[in-house]
Amino acid sequence: MASVGRVDLDGNAIKGMTICMIGAGGFIGSHLCEKLMAETPHKVLAVDVYSDKIKHLLEPAEASVPWADRIQFHRINIKNDSRLEGLIKMADLVINLAAICTPADYNTRPLDTIYSNFIDALPVVKYCSENNKRLIHFSTCEVYGKTIGSFLPKDSPLRQDPAYFVLKEDASPCIFGSIEKQRWSYACAKQLIERLIYAEGAENDLEFTIVRPFNWIGPRMDFIPGIDGPSEGVPRVLACFSNNLLRREPLKLVDGGESQRTFIYIKDAIEAVLLMIENPARANGHIFNVGNPNNEVTVRQLAEMMNEVYSKVSGEPSLEVPTIDVSSKEFYGEGYDDSDKRIPDMTIINRQLGWNPKTSLWDLLESTLTYQHRTYAAAVKQAISKPLAS
Ligand code: NAD
Ligand code: UDP
Repeated sequence: MASVGRVDLDGNAIKGMTICMIGAGGFIGSHLCEKLMAETPHKVLAVDVYSDKIKHLLEPAEASVPWADRIQFHRINIKNDSRLEGLIKMADLVINLAAICTPADYNTRPLDTIYSNFIDALPVVKYCSENNKRLIHFSTCEVYGKTIGSFLPKDSPLRQDPAYFVLKEDASPCIFGSIEKQRWSYACAKQLIERLIYAEGAENDLEFTIVRPFNWIGPRMDFIPGIDGPSEGVPRVLACFSNNLLRREPLKLVDGGESQRTFIYIKDAIEAVLLMIENPARANGHIFNVGNPNNEVTVRQLAEMMNEVYSKVSGEPSLEVPTIDVSSKEFYGEGYDDSDKRIPDMTIINRQLGWNPKTSLWDLLESTLTYQHRTYAAAVKQAISKPLAS
């Protein structure tokens, strides 16, 4: 088993621990549970309202898997369940992933978004602080908001200067739009919970690590509308574009697809989280950007690359009309706004944990779209071929 002789970055033996993982049934949680079960001796108390994405771990096909007794699922809504504190007390470490975190919700369900990302996280922080439990809290790169450079004239040469766009944990400001741009309800709630956790560290010695994911993507992210999620639902861009490709319809570019993002393969990102889990002395008290600065594209370039990669992995010809433009108001509704560019500075995570991402955008799309094709193509074909109900 992988647990034999495992040491941390300082050469000390890693002891098995019990982790209370809240939001374990989501995209990131499912990959983190897989990694912990396959490669470590740790136990997981998995908390979520859904378990479909970790069903293969909870009900493995063979009884002899190495993790048989190491993962336990607790179907709990953390908004209103008194069992949460008991589970936190049983754990050595708490990881909080629970959140509403799809942009289509930020401007259309701002109250749910703020409650989920701030109010519902409060008891978790409180129980950790009161019971002296270490907390790894998932925030977002979106706390940076817009870059300083986005306010410069379009033709300013300073826009090319990294000082105006690279996002640094300990130096960059958090720049959000006005209050009626409700897109920023998520970023603002995440920022406030970060500040609260930081203050609990400063005033009450809470041991914490804050993670700021920069567009982690891979298998099991979100849902395909009408197949394993609502027909009218709008997931994050990977699932939106996958859905378009599966249905052979043009990929929708919001406001011209000019925004830029850096995408990181979920498996690279999970390596970084495991280092945080197993190296508390190096991770406590830090906020970490986790992204891949080498994988930057505009959303338009992402759409073009996904069209090409999907054709390769599915064997189908690429779309003749690969993209269409759509306004943000039409696509997301009133109050949408966007982050212009997101390049993570890697200095702190590199210094503390010696971690770097590995996978290129092409390679991560190839494995992810292979998964999407294998998982959904038949179901989408069947859904399309069904006659419409009269
Ligand atoms: P996800 O939606 O797949 O997972 C979140 C999980 O939390 C879901 O399974 C959901 O059911 C659960 N949850 C939500 N509210 C809950 C509640 N009240 N009680 C119990 N469970 C609840 O999202 P993800 O991509 O896995 O993101 C995990 C975390 O990382 C979130 O905090 C998100 O803000 C942050 N994040 C992710 C990304 C990314 O690139 N994937 C980027 C920025 C931030
Ligand atoms: N986007 C798009 N078409 C879609 C879905 C998203 O053009 O079908 C854009 C969106 O406007 C944003 C980017 O893709 O600029 C990334 O969106 P995502 O939902 O992944 O979340 P974000 O990175 O903004 O948090």
